[in-house]
Amino acid sequence: MDPEKYGDVDEPFDLCNYIGGEFVCHSGDKWMNVLEPATGRRFARVPLSTAEDVDAAVAVAREAQPAWGALSIAERAGWLDRIADALEARYEDIASLESRDTGKPISLARAVDAQRSVTNFRFFAGLLREQESEIFEMEDSTNFVIHKPVGVGALITPWNLPLYLLSWKVAPAIGMGNCVVCKPSELTPMTADLLMQVIHDVGLPAGVVNLVHGDGGGTGAPLVAHKDVDLVSFTGGTDTGQKVAASAAPSFKKLSLELGGKNASIVFSDCDMEATVSGVVRAGFLNQGQVCLCGSRVLVEDSIYEQFRDRFVEAVKSMQIGDPSDEETDLGALISSEHLDKVSSYVELAKKEGGILLTGGQPCLTPEFEHGNWMAPTVIEGLGPDSRCSIEEIFGPVVTLHRFSSEEEAVAIANNTRYGLAGSVWTGDLVRGKRISESLETGMVWVNTWLHRDLRAPFGGVKDSGVGREGGRWSLGFFSEAMNVCVKHD
Ligand code: NAD
Repeated sequence: MDPEKYGDVDEPFDLCNYIGGEFVCHSGDKWMNVLEPATGRRFARVPLSTAEDVDAAVAVAREAQPAWGALSIAERAGWLDRIADALEARYEDIASLESRDTGKPISLARAVDAQRSVTNFRFFAGLLREQESEIFEMEDSTNFVIHKPVGVGALITPWNLPLYLLSWKVAPAIGMGNCVVCKPSELTPMTADLLMQVIHDVGLPAGVVNLVHGDGGGTGAPLVAHKDVDLVSFTGGTDTGQKVAASAAPSFKKLSLELGGKNASIVFSDCDMEATVSGVVRAGFLNQGQVCLCGSRVLVEDSIYEQFRDRFVEAVKSMQIGDPSDEETDLGALISSEHLDKVSSYVELAKKEGGILLTGGQPCLTPEFEHGNWMAPTVIEGLGPDSRCSIEEIFGPVVTLHRFSSEEEAVAIANNTRYGLAGSVWTGDLVRGKRISESLETGMVWVNTWLHRDLRAPFGGVKDSGVGREGGRWSLGFFSEAMNVCVKHD
């Protein structure tokens, strides 16, 4: 944490946009308070930028793009490495800001958010350098595949993994020669501001990366609709994704949508019980269940249901919830009071739908954090597979348990949702693990693990969980236009 920069709670720090290599005030006079989820206290104000600010950011990105796109891949990879090094030097700042801004435990902010943000830049720098030219020979001609920048990109991100997800977009986008306008979540703008400081300090050419703060309607919507934006990479909720897709469609913008999920963890009787309980607890409750990949439905084979349930509930009860800055904390606060209300309403709904609460449910308040957004990790059993709590995304520390008696039934329950992002299978039989994985209507499945990421692998969902893939060469493909030049031989 940089106390001078971010001030204290009584004197909130006012954030600025970053446009054309300068930190600039927004054009309007509207602000939103940035609140600490753990305490409800204000510690910064985020500008609610207008369409005019968006215009200014898109204009400088457009102006900067030809020169940036003309650099060699090696030169742009060098810039990504310099950003990675400078971010790494602010590792502890990233972790403490992210923990304070999102309410997540500091240990998680270090191991996941800070670590991945640095790695994303370094990974894409390496991948760019490894790109090999694609050439297809014909009898009388040679085809050269050239990857050109798309132009100006709008990068829109949610609040659950703020810098992790922003860096996942910025690195490949600028690496492929695009210039970008970032629009981070208005709820968690702090580490996006830190990234702009880093980019400024390393001296990245002005206009390559720009940022406009603001909410969805006032800032995000005009950015997506802007006539000079060529591509939109959006991560957020499915309902917002529908609006983004509708707005981007008339001008045929290149579009990547990473949306919501309702993922199943499928537990077979031949699993390694200890490893599975701890893996499925982690999948259910990491970041207070606020990860799109979280396994919020646990499907357990009949013959071990009671045994698994009891051990699972015992492990959930042993998680330490509380002060996010405490190294020992496992679970922090939910992002906002509105989100807490939404998650709590699902717990009430579950009771009406016939669910039995095995643990959790009540907001768990401590005097120090009484104005924060707290909820104990919650486990519910007895819900039918068609109940709303079993098929809708709750995005909080709420896991439902379900029984199955055959592989077919497990797959049918897992697929019984509009979402298709991820899943996990827990079994001692790896052939079965692979077979079940292939039957799931999702973009990603883990067998005997969860959120184990190789950054070269594709990331994304099917059904209402999104369109397109990011990750590795899929990101490089999305953030570029492949052009074929066919040369006839003499
Ligand atoms: P959200 O859709 O409310 O907001 C996401 C971003 O979109 C924010 O920056 C917001 O200001 C902006 N936005 C809102 N309305 C907009 C509009 N009309 N036009 C343009 N931008 C607009 O999502 P959230 O609540 O911030 O995040 C939670 C959701 O994100 C969950 O559904 C979660 O599953 C999903 N998510 C998905 C992934 C993934 O990779 N699939 C990763 C993280 C989160």
